[in-house]
Amino acid sequence: MFENLTDKLERSFKILKGEGRITEINVAESLKEIRRALIDADVNYKVAKTFTDEVKAKALGQNVLTAVKPGQMMTKIVRDELAELMGGTMSDIHLEGSPAVVLIAGLQGSGKTTFSGKLANLIKSKKGRQVLLVAGDVYRPAAIDQLKILGDQVGVEVYTEEGSKNPVQIAENAVKYARANHINTVIVDTAGRLAVDEQMMQEIAAIKKAVSPSEILFVVDAMTGQDAVNTAREFNDRLDFDGVVLTKLDGDTRGGAAISIRAVVNKPLKFISSGEKMDALQVFHPERMADRILG
Ligand code: GDP
Repeated sequence: MFENLTDKLERSFKILKGEGRITEINVAESLKEIRRALIDADVNYKVAKTFTDEVKAKALGQNVLTAVKPGQMMTKIVRDELAELMGGTMSDIHLEGSPAVVLIAGLQGSGKTTFSGKLANLIKSKKGRQVLLVAGDVYRPAAIDQLKILGDQVGVEVYTEEGSKNPVQIAENAVKYARANHINTVIVDTAGRLAVDEQMMQEIAAIKKAVSPSEILFVVDAMTGQDAVNTAREFNDRLDFDGVVLTKLDGDTRGGAAISIRAVVNKPLKFISSGEKMDALQVFHPERMADRILG
């Protein structure tokens, strides 16, 4: 398992204090420790390097060298900076338009369909809105059935067009259906593939153009670690999405991908999806995530 970074920092500073003086070299050593821990937690190397450079400037600026409890001070700086890097404050989703359209994008297996069900549940129960789920994955019949089951679980209608192979048309029709039936929120679950490919990107860009979503969420499996960053970049280049959903945080990943994605695409992390139960969705809290990564 992972070693606890907080303890490690406190311990390394205690040892240093025992030796007498804390110097810039000692700080550099502990920064190296932090960098290693971040990389172990799946944070991208370059991001970890930039991060520790910033922590160093801050630590020296705050006179960590002469502090009574340098370990604690260092840990606080690291924690605050991590939270800041992940966005500082929480961001909500935009639900605008009649109906408001939320587009869900990501690779196959990332957890899009599961998240769509959870989001429908959250918007319905917490925001008191009427929700329509749209089955836009026309390539996997099982995906349509899966969404119907989730819709049943959370008491939300699911729009499908059995036999249709045109997800753009389905999304457009779903929006018309919602408007005609006074449903003010439409969540469009889309098809993903195992890797980014041109056809998938064209399709999802066409859906975006057709239904003008007020919120596009990119769903990514936290367990994919470093790969998550490249996928996020490619989706963002094509879709200019509004926020990121990190899934499968119930596994034993530290979730360092959260930091890398934020640093690379500069889009806020909005939700954490962990587990398969429909209420296992949390709004993203930068501080909590920083604690998880620090251990
Ligand atoms: P999609 O292909 O992107 O729509 O992904 P799915 O929603 O179908 O999820 C793929 C698999 O991962 C399914 O077996 C889900 O039950 C599972 N899954 C989705 N979200 C989570 C999660 O947060 N935690 C865990 N442990 N499994 C999840």
